[in-house]
Amino acid sequence: MRNANHRLTLRSRPVGLAGPENFAEDFAPIRAPEPGEVLVESMLISIDPAMRVWISENPGYVPRIEIGEVMRAGGIGRVIESRADGLAVGDLVQARLGWQSHPTLPGSEVQKLDLSLGSADDWVGPLGMTGLTAYFGMRDVGRIRPGETVLVSGAGGGVGQLAGQIAGIEACRVVGIAGGPEKCAFLTNELGFDAAIDYKAASDLTADIARACPDGVDVFYDNVGGPTLDAAIANLRIGGRVVICGRISQTAASELYGIRNLGQLIGKRARMEGFVVFDYHDRYAEARTWISAHLREGRLRQRLHVIEGLERAAEGLSMLFRGENTGKLVVSVNSCRD
Ligand code: NAP
Repeated sequence: MRNANHRLTLRSRPVGLAGPENFAEDFAPIRAPEPGEVLVESMLISIDPAMRVWISENPGYVPRIEIGEVMRAGGIGRVIESRADGLAVGDLVQARLGWQSHPTLPGSEVQKLDLSLGSADDWVGPLGMTGLTAYFGMRDVGRIRPGETVLVSGAGGGVGQLAGQIAGIEACRVVGIAGGPEKCAFLTNELGFDAAIDYKAASDLTADIARACPDGVDVFYDNVGGPTLDAAIANLRIGGRVVICGRISQTAASELYGIRNLGQLIGKRARMEGFVVFDYHDRYAEARTWISAHLREGRLRQRLHVIEGLERAAEGLSMLFRGENTGKLVVSVNSCRD
């Protein structure tokens, strides 16, 4: 419906996976901007596993979404009315848009895209939170060095595809873990991973990793947690590092998996460290300069997985947990992508 703000609000807290039944759709009046605000037309909205955490009772380090609140989400949009200095009609911006078609936002919370670094599609992936997470997690937390063997789980997803390529650019040998033969072929044929393991076909993931990494694993970049983490720890080399980026296998689980191989960290003198990308805020510009240069050279590539229509955002969230996305999952809104 035109001239209305199409919104998805939280209807109920999910048990297990979240889906369309947990969200309510409505069309609210578009709010004209006050001084200092802009009205934005949403274009691409990011769908992230963390959203499942935000709608739970106790999300931990971020505030939870309340019932009736518009779902929180980052994304790319176009300014269609501005009463904020430095932002003009037509500017492409990134902001916390939420699951809505026409958010009215404080200008101070909206960042104009620097299109000299990359396109709007690049800004929702490699130049956005996804790429920054891969960059800081792999380089600062993983402390990769040339010649090392790097194993990445969730490798066919948004963060994983970039994390693996970053390690490849730094002259590491890169092995990805992903679900299904198509995703594995995507990693080795299109993204230059040295090998890929289909964990869904594995009867013994520990043995499969050992075959793919015969000298052991120097850095394990983990997006998944659970038994995958155990299998990777069993293959760590002495001095190995484990980057705890995410643990999607546990996010919606009714019973948490207890990691069994932690004791191996002792003899392997290994380090395991979690991180939150927002802590690197002061260094985003450095990361974006590096990422942009490698996008331009064609050494860093992303696959966007686009689903059409804001009304499908909740379905998108459940797709992440079923492995139905390849690459960075986004919702296209208003059919106005450039
Ligand atoms: P994504 O990887 O594009 O999508 C999630 C993928 O996880 C799915 O495609 C699926 O791939 C895999 N998966 C789902 N359930 C699984 C299970 N039970 N076991 C194994 N794999 C499973 O999502 P993303 O946005 O790029 O996020 C990746 C991870 O990064 C998430 O854990 C997220 O929370 C984390 N993250 C962390 C930070 C931070 O600051 N630390 C910031 C952003 C994101 P398969 O087909 O291979 O199963």
